[in-house]
Amino acid sequence: MTSPSDPTAHTTPVLSFDDVHYSYPKRRKEIVRVLRGLSVDVAAGERVALIGRSGSGKSTVLSLASGRLVTPVGTVTVVGHDLATLTADERAGLRLQHVAHVHQDFRLMPRYSALENVELPLRLQGVAPAVARERAREALERVGLGHRVGHRPKHLSGGEQQRVAIARAVVRQPTLLLADEPTGALDVELRDEILQLMFTLCAASAILLVTHDPAVADAADRTVRLS
Ligand code: ADP
Ligand code: MG
Repeated sequence: MTSPSDPTAHTTPVLSFDDVHYSYPKRRKEIVRVLRGLSVDVAAGERVALIGRSGSGKSTVLSLASGRLVTPVGTVTVVGHDLATLTADERAGLRLQHVAHVHQDFRLMPRYSALENVELPLRLQGVAPAVARERAREALERVGLGHRVGHRPKHLSGGEQQRVAIARAVVRQPTLLLADEPTGALDVELRDEILQLMFTLCAASAILLVTHDPAVADAADRTVRLS
């Protein structure tokens, strides 16, 4: 139950898409139409699953939500900011402060250890070095990688890299958590454990989760299908 004064109450959306159309320009004549009028809101504390066949635009939606892509048609609002009105630097600042994105291909820094990867965004946010290190270590322990903190990504399995990417996102307790198939490299038991951990550690976050796994979609509050 949430009271009206509860900041995590499902009221003001953290993320809002209003009639968003998006196309990728092609080099030759043809353009790739991906989104045709998507409207969706995700509020604080809410977990929305985004489903749809491969190529339907799920990853594009996450890129639009993070402000890495900007739509020319329709409005994407993140914590009250219409992203189209911000400069690229302002969008990067908003991301740093509020948005964590677990990419499908993890995107860990190859030259950094697992611990350094997780600690980096905290340092960029201004968290003191010793505190950032402790929180990063704890997050890696929570995802079952306490014994791998010094390993570089190339010495970790796909499932381990995915868990580092999740630790790096959840450690910040982001206002908005974007996750692209975040359990795709994990076996079923680990999937359920990591998903619950993500939901527990980011209980106050707005979560938009891309998945093709019905069990993951079922764990969300709501499902949005792209066609
Ligand atoms: P999904 O994540 O649902 O598989 P994507 O959002 O990655 O889908 O892609 C949606 C469509 O846009 C696909 O047809 C894909 O080929 C195309 N696409 C993705 N990125 C680009 C790009 N940078 N340039 C041109 N087309 C792209
Ligand atoms: Mg994708």
